[in-house]
Amino acid sequence: MKISEQRRAALQTLTGGELDMLVIGGGIVGSGVARDAAMRGLKVGLVEQHDFAFGTSGRSSRLLHGGMRYLAQGRLGLVREASVEKKILHRIAPHLAAPLAFIFPAYPSAEWPLWQMRIGVKIYDLLCGGQNLGKSSVISKEATLQAVPQLQPDELRGAVRYFDGFTNDARLVLDTLCSAAAAGATLLNYCRLEKASYQNGLWQCVVVDKTTESRCVVRARAVVNASGPWAGGVPHSQVKLRLTKGIHLVMERSRLPAADAVVLTEGKRILFVIPWGERLILGTTDTDYTGSLDDVRPEASDVVYLLSVANEFFPAAQLKMADVISSWAGLRPLLADPNGGASDISRAHEIRSPEPNWWDVAGGKLTTYRLMAEQTVDRVIAAARLNAKSCLTANVPLLENPEFSGLLPPEFGRDAVTHHCSKEWALHLDDVMIRRTSWHYYHRDAMEKARQAARWMAELLDWSLVEYEAEVARYSAAFNKNT
Ligand SMILES: Cc1cc2nc3c(=O)[nH]c(=O)nc-3n(C[C@H](O)[C@H](O)[C@H](O)COP(=O)(O)OP(=O)(O)OC[C@H]3O[C@@H](n4cnc5c(N)ncnc54)[C@H](O)[C@@H]3O)c2cc1C
Repeated sequence: MKISEQRRAALQTLTGGELDMLVIGGGIVGSGVARDAAMRGLKVGLVEQHDFAFGTSGRSSRLLHGGMRYLAQGRLGLVREASVEKKILHRIAPHLAAPLAFIFPAYPSAEWPLWQMRIGVKIYDLLCGGQNLGKSSVISKEATLQAVPQLQPDELRGAVRYFDGFTNDARLVLDTLCSAAAAGATLLNYCRLEKASYQNGLWQCVVVDKTTESRCVVRARAVVNASGPWAGGVPHSQVKLRLTKGIHLVMERSRLPAADAVVLTEGKRILFVIPWGERLILGTTDTDYTGSLDDVRPEASDVVYLLSVANEFFPAAQLKMADVISSWAGLRPLLADPNGGASDISRAHEIRSPEPNWWDVAGGKLTTYRLMAEQTVDRVIAAARLNAKSCLTANVPLLENPEFSGLLPPEFGRDAVTHHCSKEWALHLDDVMIRRTSWHYYHRDAMEKARQAARWMAELLDWSLVEYEAEVARYSAAFNKNT
């Protein structure tokens, strides 16, 4: 079936009858809710105003973690909850949840002395509700420098080595959506909730198909607002957020060679150098944000900050702007707390119903999305008295055959492009280059690859020359923004 016909069919399903649930937002939380609800046998639809994973869920640090920082803050409940979830994701989506060792070096000037870190990582292992993805250990100064050869040796006392998971955030969203669709959910990207009203026990939701600018009404017994950083502006939402921005840089792995990830500190802040194939990811910042939600950019000052912290820990590397292959910036949808520094705000989540059968779900982390979804769907079912099975998402694999999905980009080629367009709702060049494949972030010659990918997409999606050029220009704008 052609893509335009697929979209028309999806719109017909959304508007043709009554849904049990309409989900607003195709980030990780909305995807998780749609998957959970569909697997319980509910009639569920999801609309996403941009592409799936366009928001925060495609711009994270890509870690599945209990949160070492929260452990240091004594938030054991939060750490335990996320640690258990990280292991569940490792079980249901091993292709997107690889164990990753972290070396956390100890210096006398840092916030945490080695003896405290030693106890901390043991507690961290215990909080996984069984075994962690690997066993933590304490390593000597010599072993630390062997593992991370360029690390500042002066004053180094040794390190702890502990385990978390490495994922691919946008792929986690897309595979969750594929799983939701396989269970019967109807999903539409480039479709925005404009307004909604509650009449006779049903939500009448006006949605705009952005590919045609046409409006239609979707009727649903319950609405779940999972719009992340946008939640404050969605009609009927009562979510109050404090948004903070975090950026990441991608560089050649050879610039900071290490088999494991490395934890860097700046005051109480924790930063990471994360190995990613032949590249590394350096992140992140945490600063209050009040700009446009649809156009979040890394500023030069963010880049300078990350490079300066990295250069302090790796003085011989002399990292410079020219080392940066690509970058991304995302917004944390943190539950509002006007007091305290940006890094101190809780990463807990909240599920609330400000109006009958309208549910706001906000906060949380990528790592806890499955649990957030389970709790949300439980509450929707109970309140709307829906007839549904119990939650299955912790035990059913996300995908049976993840041929084009993994931690690393798929091989660049027509097969991947065809797959992403025909099976994963890609409409625009940036949908393929950025979110489906990460080619944009991984390859220095991403612009060249984009032109070739656009030629393949033009054939697959029947683009005219004008459309082809518009797509390359649209991607080029994203390209300049992100590098
Ligand atoms: C820099 C950074 C690093 C992070 N690192 C990690 C990490 O390593 N591990 C971890 O567990 N967590 C991490 N997080 C947190 C995690 O990424 C977020 O908590 C999570 O992605 C939020 O998902 P979401 O679905 O709520 O929001 P989003 O992914 O932003 O999704 C919301 C979606 O709703 C859509 N939408 C909004 N309004 C409408 C509307 N009216 N109609 C239709 N659609 C609409 C938006 O377009 C958007 O796509 C990080 C966050 C940041 C910013």
